[in-house]
Amino acid sequence: MQRTLVLLKPDTVQRFLIGTLIGRFEQKGLKIVGLKMMAMSKETCDEHYAHMTSKPFYPAILSFMTCGPIVAVAIEGHDAVAVVRKMCGLTAESEWVSGTIRGDYARSIDTNLIHSSDSEETAKVEVARFFKANELFDYTRPLIS
Ligand code: ATP
Ligand code: MG
Repeated sequence: MQRTLVLLKPDTVQRFLIGTLIGRFEQKGLKIVGLKMMAMSKETCDEHYAHMTSKPFYPAILSFMTCGPIVAVAIEGHDAVAVVRKMCGLTAESEWVSGTIRGDYARSIDTNLIHSSDSEETAKVEVARFFKANELFDYTRPLIS
């Protein structure tokens, strides 16, 4: 089992797509183990997008990610990092395909709805960045088994 981090960006919240996007992961059989609406601070954005802060478009990322609430989601499942990443879709608009979240719903590379961790190592750091240990739930499902 792996855990990975998803961020539903401000455009997802403002377009009322929170449930639609989380529903895709639940319908796939992935388990939501942490969920939180929050404001992203400049400090957290700088840290989260450290690999992008030197890019000319970083000010646009910062302004976008802090323009309204986001929703952090910790997701657990078999090979969850790669599966979730694939479900979200690639970065470049020209690579977007139907059936992925970005391919089906995103409007542009700047407003691309969703972040997902890009490696197992990154996922561990990113889940810990957004969730304290007691905000992650290792539950079983006795009511449905
Ligand atoms: P995210 O980390 O947001 O999930 P990603 O992993 O698909 O997206 P990254 O390479 O990590 O892509 O880039 C982070 C963000 O920077 C992207 O979500 C996108 O908004 C922006 N970005 C990346 N490449 C470009 C580019 N060439 N031009 C403009 N914006 C870009
Ligand atoms: Mg990324």
